[in-house]
Amino acid sequence: MHLSIIIPVLNEEDSIDTFVEAIQPHLMRALAAIGPGAQAELLFVDDGSTDRTPEILKELAARDPMIRYVRLSRNFGKEAALAAGLRRARGDAVVPMDVDLQDPPEVLPQLVREWLAGAKVVNARRVDRSTDGRFKRLTANGFYRAINMVSETPIPENVGDFRLLDRTVVDAVNSLGETARFNKGLFAWVGFKVATVDYSRATRAAGETKWRFRRLWGLAIDGITASTTAPLRIWTYIGGVTALIAFAYAGFLIFHTLSTGVDVPGYASIMVSVLMLGGIQLLSIGILGEYVGRIAKEVRQRPLYIVEGESDSAGTGGNPGPSTTVHEDKAWTPQRMRA
Ligand code: UDP
Ligand code: MG
Repeated sequence: MHLSIIIPVLNEEDSIDTFVEAIQPHLMRALAAIGPGAQAELLFVDDGSTDRTPEILKELAARDPMIRYVRLSRNFGKEAALAAGLRRARGDAVVPMDVDLQDPPEVLPQLVREWLAGAKVVNARRVDRSTDGRFKRLTANGFYRAINMVSETPIPENVGDFRLLDRTVVDAVNSLGETARFNKGLFAWVGFKVATVDYSRATRAAGETKWRFRRLWGLAIDGITASTTAPLRIWTYIGGVTALIAFAYAGFLIFHTLSTGVDVPGYASIMVSVLMLGGIQLLSIGILGEYVGRIAKEVRQRPLYIVEGESDSAGTGGNPGPSTTVHEDKAWTPQRMRA
């Protein structure tokens, strides 16, 4: 049994050594819990760092066989870096972690214990965000509330990327072809048995945050558009209701003008044509939205469903192949092979 820790890093020359040192004892405890022969890998994904990060990683990897790294050709963002790590990780369980020790390594053995007890996804939930600024807390809360109002699969609140994923879950996430990646949404979408471990979030150990408001905003938009087509669909309803009211008022105006005569010359005819056109336009935008929403869903080429197990493969003993079979159809096989 192997345990992979994926650590996306961007300009973290001050944090890497501290992280590697701090995680050792907890990693050992986690491996001890798994049992004899358990091994770990620390897989760093260098997300286009421009400081001494690449040299530090090279040195570490040469010295310690447990440490691997992947370097991306430029800064692709944490979501892409994490996706690269998930595809390269070899472990039976994979844990993405931040390098700044904000995801406390002492939680690691707890995550592993829940995994050994049978959970396929072990979420690490922050019970205390007091180390984040007020603004970040407020926007984060607002974001989770908004996305869970519309998302088809609820995204657990206060759970970041720090969580343990079983190999079957990692394979399922890797098989999703979409490029606008919002990992927290994907982890929730694939399903499987989930357990939760609580922790309180530490302050950054060294260096400074790589997130700017603009980037977080972009991530939030990606998250919402990747998880739901609700923003497109609401126009069908808003358009429909507005058109209905407009048509009703137009009907009333026609009736009123015919029965009581013209009060203001031109008012009825102009009003009726404006309302008719407005109503028709809103309605047609809504219909367009329905189709665009379907196109958005189709181009993502997510599998229809993910199978966790079945009678044919269970208990035969002879076939240790992957226990997750992802439903395949021709349409998305190329993506999978590219991955
Ligand atoms: N990170 C990355 N690419 C980016 C931004 C961040 O790989 O474009 C890494 C960063 O090095 C760190 C982790 O993602 O290991 C979390 O970043 P940070 O601590 O700056 O985010 P915060 O905790 O402030 O949300
Ligand atoms: Mg951080």
